[in-house]
Amino acid sequence: MEVELLEATDRPERLICQAARNDYMEEFVGETAFDEVMASIEGDSLDERKETLINRLLDHGHFGPFEHPQATFAIKGISRSCMAQITRHRHVSFDVQSMRYVAFDDIDPAEVETGEMVVVPPSVSDPDWVGRNQQTGDVDEETAQRREELFEETIETAFESYQELLDLGLPPEDARFVLPIGSKVNMVMSMNPRMLMHVADMRAAADSQWEIRDMTERVLDLAAEWCPITFEYYEEEMKNRKNRLAP
Ligand SMILES: Cc1cc2nc3c(=O)[nH]c(=O)nc-3n(C[C@H](O)[C@H](O)[C@H](O)COP(=O)(O)OP(=O)(O)OC[C@H]3O[C@@H](n4cnc5c(N)ncnc54)[C@H](O)[C@@H]3O)c2cc1C
Repeated sequence: MEVELLEATDRPERLICQAARNDYMEEFVGETAFDEVMASIEGDSLDERKETLINRLLDHGHFGPFEHPQATFAIKGISRSCMAQITRHRHVSFDVQSMRYVAFDDIDPAEVETGEMVVVPPSVSDPDWVGRNQQTGDVDEETAQRREELFEETIETAFESYQELLDLGLPPEDARFVLPIGSKVNMVMSMNPRMLMHVADMRAAADSQWEIRDMTERVLDLAAEWCPITFEYYEEEMKNRKNRLAP
């Protein structure tokens, strides 16, 4: 998996502060210099005032101003399972690589490593990996080996069948029905910091699946560079709070 920041609002935390200060200013924020907008906020420098205001907003649950900046992430090589999970979030915008138009017709399944076509969960090759709702705990070496073989054989057969169906003239949009849910897909997604905090609440949590948790942690790392005050406060003060519905 790869996660890149494609585009993001320039000076996002300045924008958050302008939006928040607008609510309590007599002057028009559109015609007021930023240092004047922030003059009544505690702090010795503009950066300190931004930190004071942003931390106060997050502390008081005043999340509206965090909806103004927007970031777009490009994500490479997640499973269709992970894609189905993340696309449940209704305030995130998505573009997902189409399997109607992108066929794997230059792939010989017998020649290609399983991991190039599908996401291979760590439990397939790590017998000590413990996942949620697992029916058996310890496995012997023979069982572990058979699990790995079966996983690879099943993927290979699925991709061989897919190729044969294409060769027999089935349209890619229908041939893809035989492909596994672990098939890799690329995606672009955009959201604001408020939504990102909500997604992280749900998807970076311990009960979330390892793949979407990994993806969300990578998105959070990029967000921490983009909106440092916001996501430092989120990591330190908000991430582990209980009984939240949405930030
Ligand atoms: C560990 C885990 C396991 C899961 N298992 C399943 C499962 O087995 N089956 C399944 O179907 N889903 C499952 N989900 C998905 C989950 O139920 C949510 O659909 C998904 O996480 C979207 O989050 P959300 O409901 O907060 O909505 P989002 O779309 O992220 O919306 C953000 C917030 O906006 C508000 N909101 C948005 N739309 C509405 C609305 N129409 N009405 C009222 N308020 C709204 C809510 O406050 C919501 O929390 C799972 C999620 C997790 C994290």
